[in-house]
Amino acid sequence: MAPWRRAGDTATTFLGLPTAPRGVGHLRGSEPFPVAARRALADSQLRRNLGKATTTIRAKRAAVVAELPDWEELREAGRAVKAEAMRHLDRYLERLEAQVEARSGTVHWARDATEANAIVTELIRATGATEAVKVKSLATDEIGLNEALSAAGITAYETDLAELIVQLGRDRPSHILVPAIHRNRAEIREIFLREMGDVDPALTDDPAALAEAARLHLRRKFLSAKVGISGANFAIAETGTLCVVESEGNGRMCLTLPQTLITVMGIEKVIGSWADLGVFLQLLPRSSTGERMNPYTSLWTGVTPGDGPQRFHLVLLDNGRTAALADETGRQALHCIRCSACLNVCPVYERTGGHAYGSVYPGPIGAVLSPLLTGVEDNASLPYASSLCGACYDACPVKIDIPSLLVHLRARHVEEARRARRLPSAEAVTMAAAAWVMADPGRYASAQRAGKSGRALSRGGRIRALPPPLSAWTRARDAPVPPAMTFREWWRESGRDRS
Ligand code: SF4
Repeated sequence: MAPWRRAGDTATTFLGLPTAPRGVGHLRGSEPFPVAARRALADSQLRRNLGKATTTIRAKRAAVVAELPDWEELREAGRAVKAEAMRHLDRYLERLEAQVEARSGTVHWARDATEANAIVTELIRATGATEAVKVKSLATDEIGLNEALSAAGITAYETDLAELIVQLGRDRPSHILVPAIHRNRAEIREIFLREMGDVDPALTDDPAALAEAARLHLRRKFLSAKVGISGANFAIAETGTLCVVESEGNGRMCLTLPQTLITVMGIEKVIGSWADLGVFLQLLPRSSTGERMNPYTSLWTGVTPGDGPQRFHLVLLDNGRTAALADETGRQALHCIRCSACLNVCPVYERTGGHAYGSVYPGPIGAVLSPLLTGVEDNASLPYASSLCGACYDACPVKIDIPSLLVHLRARHVEEARRARRLPSAEAVTMAAAAWVMADPGRYASAQRAGKSGRALSRGGRIRALPPPLSAWTRARDAPVPPAMTFREWWRESGRDRS
């Protein structure tokens, strides 16, 4: 048994739901969504960058999806495969572990970000290395691995172009697939000139020139690194095979050149079979980059003597996933294959960008996944960061019903807040008063007449501010101006009332 694994840990005990840990790491921002969103909305450059990028990706996706006559059947197959994997997650994880270890890999179980970071740090220390190359991985972003390694004197180099831009700019990712979507070419050129010691000072903002500068900068790291770190898009239980899909080839280098490979993977990434993988290799590239297939699909199974890394470690990360699994409605958020299609169609994301969500998982999926991983009270504003227009549901290749999940999490938040307060909320008092008024026709007619006095607050056909407690409504939106005549008055005056 590996020294980092706790005695007695198996998939079954690890998935012991009553003691499931909450997610920690980079899953919660320092301020609520409305505060961060207001600041983002004032940044016109950010909105221009986002609008241009999401419009382009949306058009590419729509074109390649339209090519497939069985797209809806594929979506349904993807949904069914994920639902099956979640239903038997313990069995699939144990199978995966057995297959990886049968092929000379080592499996570690990490309950949360702290445990996962400690495991990876010790594994790298054991090699004597002080540097590692990384292929883009949301799981390692989620646990704050780079920061944990840095504190231990180990430098992790991001090798995906967009992640490199974020790392060099001391920035935070703002999109699942295109972490530097908030940056334009001129900004990227400035970052490269400032941060890359070996860059040509005559560098232009031509995309090919920027990519070449990054390639030259990273080449030395690839050739000297003893340790590679990756995430995983999928893990196939029946053979213990890991799969990473990417576009730039940096992943292939990270996965094959170093002598030690450490893969950090959320436990929900496991699927049963190669046939299941076939479904996702059609759904994912079309939904993410708008391509028919990914330029690089890397697959590896344990260790192959004399070929590629000779030590392979798989870290299986919970960090709130079993807590999400325990929520029968919410668990479908774990079906996500991180394609980012829901971000690109979301009117809220397009205007605020990813940083406003305060989590490594932004956009519609972040608005449900982050509260499920941390507990709703730790990300209480996110389920409200949506107009519930449903565009995310239509775009999702595995048919996650995000609007219903948002409503479910809002209900959980209200219920948890009510229980914590033990006193009725202002909303509950208002609703009780409304029910009392509406239960009696006389009271209702009087309330309608009284409501007309609200017309005095109207400016330019809108009411922008109401007194407390109704100010809670107008803090976020205008109130409708009451009509000059109630329906009952109109009914009477138009001669229709024959009672
Ligand atoms: S929720 Fe669906 S659309 Fe959004 S990233 Fe996940 S798989 Fe893609």
